Amino acid sequence: MPRKIAAGNWKMNGLSDAMPEAIAIGAASEGLDCATVICPPATLLARMGDAGVTLGGQYCHPAGSGAHTGDVSAPMLADAGATWCITGHSERRADHRETDADVRAQTEAAWDAGLTAILCIGETLEEREAGATLDRLMAQLDGSVPEGANAENTVIAYEPVWAIGTGKTATPDQVAEVHNALRERLGPDMALLYGGSVKAANAAELFALANVNGALVGGASLKADDFVPIMRALS
Ligand code: 13P
Repeated sequence: MPRKIAAGNWKMNGLSDAMPEAIAIGAASEGLDCATVICPPATLLARMGDAGVTLGGQYCHPAGSGAHTGDVSAPMLADAGATWCITGHSERRADHRETDADVRAQTEAAWDAGLTAILCIGETLEEREAGATLDRLMAQLDGSVPEGANAENTVIAYEPVWAIGTGKTATPDQVAEVHNALRERLGPDMALLYGGSVKAANAAELFALANVNGALVGGASLKADDFVPIMRALS
């Protein structure tokens, strides 16, 4: 059985006054039958070590160290307390022109540092309207999932680009179609997360789908009052 994971991606949000939210999320995660992971901005990672929540990075450079101003490496994330790392988020693919090959290299770097990768894939609205959703997603898997990916070192997050931060969640039928295809492709054990405008009001119906093993949550992970009900819906 795949594990269940409620992951929060704080993106470029959060100053030191966000600490109480992380502590409340950590406290609420105790005793739940799912893993809870918060991926804060790199600036908060080290100081969130005492919050009682499992931590992840949002990105890692393929190299372990070197002359890459402004970047963060997987060993740095691990050193700061992370055990997970998002790779291939569509905002990175768009803002930083990251390719599937980049995502593959980042994922390998995450593994080398002992991090579990949450590898993101997703289609644009144009691709969906052209009927190319599954082809696009399978091509992203071909290009960005390294050899050696397994249920321990990798989780796949399906995040339709048009559903991120828009309030438009994919319908249960749309999510089921994609997750069933991912399950067939990736085998019985890999955890498959859905991401894109997940909130307390729609979490339960998404988690009821056979091949949805959790969520990667953006906006609704910033506040414990919003995120804890999603964690509980999964548990
Ligand atoms: P929202 O939940 O804010 O739509 O963001 C989803 C996401 O991109 C998580 O990685």
